[in-house]
Amino acid sequence: MRSGKIIFMPLGGAQEVGASCYFLKLGENNLLLDCGCGSTHGIRFAPKFNALLQTPYLQDFHQVSQIFLSHAHLDHAAALPDFLELNERAAVYMTDLTREILSVQLEERFDKIEKNISSVAFLQKIPLPNLRISFHQAGHIPGAMMTLINFRGKNILYTGDYSTFPTQLVGAALLPEVKIDILILCGLHARHPNYRRFGDSDSALKKILRKIYYALRRGKSVYCQVTQISKGVELITLINKFLPQAEIFIDERVMKIVHRFENLHIPIMREQNHPLSAFPRAPCVFLSTKPPPPRSGMEILNGDFSLHDDFAATVEFVRRLNPKTCVVVHSPPDKFFHTGTTLEQVLINDPDSRTSFIFPNTCVPFEL
Ligand SMILES: [Zn+2]
Ligand SMILES: [Zn+2]
Repeated sequence: MRSGKIIFMPLGGAQEVGASCYFLKLGENNLLLDCGCGSTHGIRFAPKFNALLQTPYLQDFHQVSQIFLSHAHLDHAAALPDFLELNERAAVYMTDLTREILSVQLEERFDKIEKNISSVAFLQKIPLPNLRISFHQAGHIPGAMMTLINFRGKNILYTGDYSTFPTQLVGAALLPEVKIDILILCGLHARHPNYRRFGDSDSALKKILRKIYYALRRGKSVYCQVTQISKGVELITLINKFLPQAEIFIDERVMKIVHRFENLHIPIMREQNHPLSAFPRAPCVFLSTKPPPPRSGMEILNGDFSLHDDFAATVEFVRRLNPKTCVVVHSPPDKFFHTGTTLEQVLINDPDSRTSFIFPNTCVPFEL
């Protein structure tokens, strides 16, 4: 008889952000959910692929036949070329938009993996041996998808990074209308009870906008460094909307992705937006993925912000889906507050919640 066991093991990105890569064994099917890289103090780290061969579940990397890539952020996608060196046959599923953004993110490394990619669309269903799989809009950034897998009558939903609110560039997540048995949740703020997103007076995006506004009013230029190129595009859209007079100069890498978006009919640029060729006169905004030039006299701004559900929205999301099991990954502990309150502790007191929680550790397999 064929095995119906469900085994899950994070290879990275468990109780941390970076190198998100989750091994999921569904009977005979071996899948990877995402394949990203992380970095600590500027040193890149990849998922621990080799740990898989030390388990009874895999003897050879070629036994992994499918990879589902939720979105183009590097912490979910940058180790794809590394894994495809170990297994050149694996099929990689992602949306067209993710493919476009990824081609800019990975630069020449993208050429090596392109032949493995199959484009999928939201609500498309693909039949694989013993599995039925469909894809759903996840919000967060353009192209981001959730993956829903039906295995032996059980519905397993992998969220990837998601948002239940619309952002400047993409609508809110659209959830599948089926009962979810197992939820694999990228719960960035599941352990951050004090974190609230945009709309709150101290959200990161509002702070960035406020700083830009006051600097420009004082006649100064602002150098805004972004960690992810797609976040650069998000910021351009936001500045265009709330500070329509601001002149923005955009670096080459961010500009590349702007053009990809516009080719896919997502308009970004306005008259006040220019490619960064020379440093023009103040006041203006520079948007770049590179560090600022030394002694430029500009205001330096960290352009990082979160496109994730905050704590309250995370609780609401899980309450609404009410899965039997919720595996929480991509979930760093709270650096600033040690209240200890987690998503689990809120829902444990909710009489309507049937969910039991697992906060797994990297390289520790368990049966679901
Ligand atoms: Zn992301
Ligand atoms: Zn992420």
